Amino acid sequence: MHELAITQSIVEMIVERTDGASVTAVHLRIGKVSGVVPDALRFCFDLVADGTPVQGARLEIDEPPGRACCRACGATFSVDDLVVLCACGSADVEVLGGDELLVSAVELAEEVA
Ligand SMILES: [Zn+2]
Repeated sequence: MHELAITQSIVEMIVERTDGASVTAVHLRIGKVSGVVPDALRFCFDLVADGTPVQGARLEIDEPPGRACCRACGATFSVDDLVVLCACGSADVEVLGGDELLVSAVELAEEVA
């Protein structure tokens, strides 16, 4: 279950970058072919965020579809899972996108003056 390790590093990074500010929402971009299961990450997030400034933050997950280019026939096509196979039968394809895993935005609680 590598989602736990991924979630830990995401939360640690956010806490580090935001200098301990209270986080209300975290926006993640998890490509369809990144190999990360959003539901598993969501589950881990609550566990990992517990006791940190990220605790209770809303988790918004965007799942962009993958794009791939076949090295055998040159066709480009979309992929939505880890089985990347061209219509021509070749598995020799280059994944052009959809394999990203990144934090696209973090929302911080407004300072109460
Ligand atoms: Zn092909």
